[in-house]
Amino acid sequence: MEVPDDPPECCPVCSVPYESVSVHEEGLMVNMRENERYSRVCLSPRDADGTATLEFYHHAHAQVHEGADASVADAPDG
Ligand SMILES: [Zn+2]
Repeated sequence: MEVPDDPPECCPVCSVPYESVSVHEEGLMVNMRENERYSRVCLSPRDADGTATLEFYHHAHAQVHEGADASVADAPDG
């Protein structure tokens, strides 16, 4: 797991403060079950010096509840 050199102040997807951000260059599995620490994770694509990456913005529950509404895609059932 990598961390960007210049992380933004707020999540570029939902514009809400986040607790941590990680950068991934390969596929990975995301557990969509209820999580005690995080309310949601936003995924933002980014070109890092020619390498396609995904940045994962981890939002704690308080950050999401204090933030503005954003379009949220529900996790599929099952
Ligand atoms: Zn977000």
